[in-house]
Amino acid sequence: MTADQRHVLLLAGTAEARALARQIADRFPKVRLTASFAGAVTDLPVLKVPTRVGGFGGIDGLIRYLDVERVSMIVDATHPFAAQMSRNAQAAANAMNVPLIRLERPAWQLRGGDRVTEAAAVSDAVRLIPQGARAFLAVGRKEIERFYARSDIFALVRMIEPPERALPEGWTLVLGRPPQDVAQEVDLLKHHRISQVVAKNSGGTRSFAKIEAANRLGLHLIMIARPQLPPAQIAPSVSDMLVELSKSLDTRPDQRL
Ligand code: NAP
Repeated sequence: MTADQRHVLLLAGTAEARALARQIADRFPKVRLTASFAGAVTDLPVLKVPTRVGGFGGIDGLIRYLDVERVSMIVDATHPFAAQMSRNAQAAANAMNVPLIRLERPAWQLRGGDRVTEAAAVSDAVRLIPQGARAFLAVGRKEIERFYARSDIFALVRMIEPPERALPEGWTLVLGRPPQDVAQEVDLLKHHRISQVVAKNSGGTRSFAKIEAANRLGLHLIMIARPQLPPAQIAPSVSDMLVELSKSLDTRPDQRL
């Protein structure tokens, strides 16, 4: 890395981050790019850019990383529910005076009348599931154990890798990423005679099929609201992010990148 070469730290773990890794590398070939993964899942995508895996060690660890690796910009493309990472990134960026842009896909705006209940947090979603329900819990591996207290319900659980602690007796586990095909989701919900869908308001298109399927079947939906994040410069999509990045990363004639 030359003295004036920019180093962009891309906080990853989403489809947008994968697209950004490709596109930043293509559009800004002189920029040093590092993609960072938490290591929460073992089947990490193969990105053709240098990658690091694992936590930084909180805000202090990230500050050290920014310093040692001479990071000149952070692109936070983590999932909207990866709040700890986004908070740490903003705090470390502020401390080190490193610019940060967060990719924040718009939340889903649902109009389902009585069929949609918003849960302010996961704990509310756990409480809001009616007794004896047959719930599809699309909440991810990190949060699933909080639902284990609801031994009065049946739950269909889908996640990429198995939970650390086995599901309660009688619940069904489906391993895999969410399909984007609504008909497939409709079949799954029908097959398990699901009455409620519990989901995080992730936004975007990749995991919307289950919401669409729940709507088609007229099922009750419990939507977990996003955690509050600190104010930041926001880009709502990959293309918006590239526009923002080009303002900072495009080479001026007198500037070697
Ligand atoms: P989190 O609660 O915000 O973060 C917990 C800790 O994991 C962070 O404090 C950090 O450890 C480490 N970490 C998280 N993202 C990282 C990254 N990209 N690079 C390096 N370290 C990272 O995050 P989470 O909800 O567990 O999510 C973990 C990863 O899965 C994220 O990359 C996220 O984009 C992805 N993901 C999350 C969800 C979800 O619903 N939460 C859904 C899809 C994908 P240190 O404090 O040690 O730095």
